Amino acid sequence: MRAGGLLATAALFATAACGAGAAETAPDGKPAVVAAFYPLQWLTEQVGGSDAQVSGLTPPGVEPHDVELGIQQVTELKNATLAVYVKGVQPAVDEAVEPDTSFDAATSVATIPVGEHAGEHAGEGEESAEEHGHEELPYDPHLWLDPSRLATVATKLGERLATADPAHAQGYKDRAAKTAAALTALDQEFAKGLTTCTTRTLVTAHEAFGYLSDRYRLKQIGITLDPETEPSPARLSEVAKLAKAEGVTTIFTEALVSPKVAEVLASQVGAKTAVLDPLESKPSGDYLSAMRDNLKTLQTALGCTA
Ligand SMILES: [Zn+2]
Repeated sequence: MRAGGLLATAALFATAACGAGAAETAPDGKPAVVAAFYPLQWLTEQVGGSDAQVSGLTPPGVEPHDVELGIQQVTELKNATLAVYVKGVQPAVDEAVEPDTSFDAATSVATIPVGEHAGEHAGEGEESAEEHGHEELPYDPHLWLDPSRLATVATKLGERLATADPAHAQGYKDRAAKTAAALTALDQEFAKGLTTCTTRTLVTAHEAFGYLSDRYRLKQIGITLDPETEPSPARLSEVAKLAKAEGVTTIFTEALVSPKVAEVLASQVGAKTAVLDPLESKPSGDYLSAMRDNLKTLQTALGCTA
């Protein structure tokens, strides 16, 4: 892999193309940066701009938690100038990245613990907790759903890319600052939009909104941390009881996961369902527009007056 890197560097000065998937730089000499899943890909594209060749590892429309990597993708990760990921979201990615050429976004921000019930499904079903990875984590990995934390990640990523590609350091830092400013503006819209609400309890099938709740003083009641995990009937009736007590009118579900669990729960509570996007896959717009849609959905569901 190291030899491949040297060859790739040499390609900066020669027109010889490198073997596909085996070069640290793209054929045009730009650093090859691989982002593990959508919000990181969006962020990396913003910060990398035209100085980096950014590619996404998780195809659009694929739920990233249980992604399996082919040999080509593992090679792509190992040979990248930089692999951008969040440790704990995708065990296959955690295993494939190289410490020297990877950026774990979770190391840039203050993480929060997983919900108190997380881990209760460990060992249930076919997959053990070890295989799943998710439940083993000391922190909740869904940090991109807090724009203020993602702004910090943007700044740190800009510094890291500047180190990896010093010739374009200023460009990375400038774009990182611009991206962080856009995320800070979004953060302020959320703070303002969620100031006064009838209820602050957020019931969601996929427990992905811990950081959003942490940031905007909401209380998340999640059914499962991993969207592929089937909740137990006991957990469902426990959540139904909590939701009724909190006057919840909406149970949140998401596009990539079957809405069945949320629908069952909603019928028990006498609530309706709505889609809240955890942004684990590319939305129809981009990160910023999808988060603004999430804000509108939350304002309606929680009865917020801006
Ligand atoms: Zn998730």
